[in-house]
Amino acid sequence: MNIHEYQAKALLRSCGAPVSDGRVVMRAEEAKTAAGELDGPLWVVKAQIHAGGRGKGTFKEPGAGEAGGVRLARSVEEAAEEAKRMLGRTLVTKQTGPAGKQVNRIYIEDGAGIERELYLALLVDRQTSRVSFVASTEGGMDIEEVADKTPEKILSFSIDPATGYQPFHGRRIAFNLGLEGKQIKQCVALMGTLYDMFLGNDMEMLEINPLIVTDTGDLKCLDAKMGFDGNALYRHRDIAELRDTTEEDPKELEASKYDLNYIALDGEIGCMVNGAGLAMATMDIIKLYGSEPANFLDVGGGATKEKVTEAFKIITSDPNVKGILVNIFGGIMRCDVIAEGVIAAVKEVGLKVPLVVRLEGTNVEKGKEIISTSGLDVIAADNLKDGAEKIVKAVKG
Ligand code: GDP
Ligand code: MN
Repeated sequence: MNIHEYQAKALLRSCGAPVSDGRVVMRAEEAKTAAGELDGPLWVVKAQIHAGGRGKGTFKEPGAGEAGGVRLARSVEEAAEEAKRMLGRTLVTKQTGPAGKQVNRIYIEDGAGIERELYLALLVDRQTSRVSFVASTEGGMDIEEVADKTPEKILSFSIDPATGYQPFHGRRIAFNLGLEGKQIKQCVALMGTLYDMFLGNDMEMLEINPLIVTDTGDLKCLDAKMGFDGNALYRHRDIAELRDTTEEDPKELEASKYDLNYIALDGEIGCMVNGAGLAMATMDIIKLYGSEPANFLDVGGGATKEKVTEAFKIITSDPNVKGILVNIFGGIMRCDVIAEGVIAAVKEVGLKVPLVVRLEGTNVEKGKEIISTSGLDVIAADNLKDGAEKIVKAVKG
């Protein structure tokens, strides 16, 4: 689960990490008062969406100009104008995709004077199964591009969980970033704070881009992105409350209500599969036959008829879906249960696209019989290859 920048900064502030003072506003009328509570003479007006690249983003609607989602203002009035311009409009950035994201919240901050922009992140390194620090002098920019073109400019190392964070880790980062004087001490303290926050809150990702050296020579977190492990949220009620469901894909949100492992994708073939490995293989083979999956979906081992029905409804609600492939290997899952779920869903929402069903395993005969006697226009497949071939052919013609 991701949270907004202003929420991440509130967490940072509560742990003693250096951030600017700021106010969040949801309505344009509140902007002037909010800006007036900050010192000035510089204000920063920042669109709050769960995506980066806002500074270089553009708004879809006419009248919002070409200016992006992070703007400097020289007066309270100007700050209020910028907030008004952004609220309710759709911001498109490199990370939102072409559809963009509607801006429903604005964060107005005391502007900082910038000497240098640095990059810092903590993440779970899957190779070492440890928490890693990533630091670079090339902050504020596209870190993927830095990693691609000048990887030597990125420092990355993991922390041994047996010792945890040690001051020498912080000094290593400080020297690599070319920090000096009081900044070194600030860096050692800040990295320790971030590491503790990361572990204590079960984060998956914490990115400060840019981490800046201010014009007074101090370190400050100018941007903050935090992602949390959804499976650990039950033990962090305070974090779970920060969830903004308007930022999430409505189909994924619906799926999470039914405990379905569903991820929306851009392709045209909807997939209903059981088991994450089989789901991945199904997506791969759809690509192999020349099409793209519209989703990842693992209905799980103990799926009920109701769950399968909901899953099918979510898949068909996606206008990009031009065909559906049901690929079930009944181990714990029974093929007849899947068949009943599919039939129930089709009866409820109708079937406007080709449907290929491949069933194998427990109660397969019963499952096939339910489908074949249902009177539905279903294309039966014998195996994974056959299923993928048939659905791609049905969609592509
Ligand atoms: P992002 O584009 O979504 O990553 O948003 P950021 O919060 O990183 O802001 C983008 C850029 O705006 C930063 O890299 C800075 O150059 C600039 N910026 C943000 N806050 C301030 C500020 O307080 N003062 C100044 N001078 N520039 C800022
Ligand atoms: Mn940023």
